[in-house]
Amino acid sequence: MATGINPFEMAQKQIKVATDKLGVKPGVYEILKQPQTVMEVNFPVRMDDGSIRTFTGYRAQHNLAIGPAKGGIRFHPGVTLEEVKALSMWMTFKCGVVGVPYGGGKGGVVVDPRTLSAGELERLSRAYITAIAPIVGPEKDIPAPDVYTNAQIMAWMMDEFSRLKGFNNFGLITGKPLIIGGSAGREKATARGVMFVIEEAANAIGMALPGATVVIQGYGNAGSFCASLLHELGCKIIAVNDSKGSAYNPAGLDPKAVKAFKDENQTVKGFPGSQNLSNFDLLTLECDILIPAALENQITGEVAPHVKAKMLAEAANGPTTPDADEILAAKGITHLPDILANAGGVTVSYFEWVQNLYNYYWPEEEVNTKLRVIMADAFRDVYGMYKNHDGITMRNAAYMVAINRLAKAMEIRGWV
Ligand code: GLU
Repeated sequence: MATGINPFEMAQKQIKVATDKLGVKPGVYEILKQPQTVMEVNFPVRMDDGSIRTFTGYRAQHNLAIGPAKGGIRFHPGVTLEEVKALSMWMTFKCGVVGVPYGGGKGGVVVDPRTLSAGELERLSRAYITAIAPIVGPEKDIPAPDVYTNAQIMAWMMDEFSRLKGFNNFGLITGKPLIIGGSAGREKATARGVMFVIEEAANAIGMALPGATVVIQGYGNAGSFCASLLHELGCKIIAVNDSKGSAYNPAGLDPKAVKAFKDENQTVKGFPGSQNLSNFDLLTLECDILIPAALENQITGEVAPHVKAKMLAEAANGPTTPDADEILAAKGITHLPDILANAGGVTVSYFEWVQNLYNYYWPEEEVNTKLRVIMADAFRDVYGMYKNHDGITMRNAAYMVAINRLAKAMEIRGWV
């Protein structure tokens, strides 16, 4: 994380605010303020030139009160133990908001995968899952893709783990290719979940979606699918960007054409008929809905006062800093926090795991219908909590919904 904000301390603060507001037993905060288990692994990988390089990785499991741990694995040069711990905590609350029976987990390897050959990436993926094998598995902790990991990497990890165990273990990991136990609808699930939550929120505040203007920061999996799904609902996508630049056209962009352009040119910048804007200018454009779908800490205390969107839907994890949260709330922006807005990904991961355990696979319509029910219920729970408490943000409300569930489970189990 670039801004120097310690993500672990940020997560702890969010839990403290929510437990205080709820008035739950002090033991609840005492248990939730850190992950239950953290593993650091240093594992050797043979590089293409024959040399051996040792890589460092982590896996954190935050809280197992309502089920096994669940959460992605990221491959990134900036991965730190503190970040992995914080991300595992956020996963607990994300699962709690949508009510899927998992606690949070997260893993990471300190590596820039773009500098590795395909063979090196495969050996690294296999070595990492072997190193963390003692603490993961379908009943213990179920990883998934995250930043710079994908279905192919999940396939290698599942294969290696299955070899270790001596039988196929499809339920080890989610986000797999369809042919080896992936779920229909998983690829678009994060974006589809964002769309469902936006639909519910628009309904609650009386915003018409046909014709609504949308700005999206980031054009990867979540961003590009959000653009096409919202476009299908009649929204006008006026600006999108990526790390290299942006495409702004007040008359509206065709998201599929922008995606095809990006696939060919590795950026959306230069899309025919569009203008380039700075990241700041994009985030502060006049629009109905702003969707950060890139990295952490984008909407900071400096950016927030200038945000003109009526609704902010966080497709990324942690895109808004705590000081910005307060500013956006004071401005009356309808704020759909990450642990609510982007929970569609882990929800369909849950469906994938269930399908693996049953060995019975559902058509995409069934996945999408079940996802809509869960996301709509989650929005109603969070919005209800928000309306019933004075002086809280939608993020506080989302934490409170999740912590309420966890606190009950921990109490009944006799932990607090
Ligand atoms: N990495 C995704 C997230 O942050 C998905 C996790 C999962 O599917 O387990 O929500």
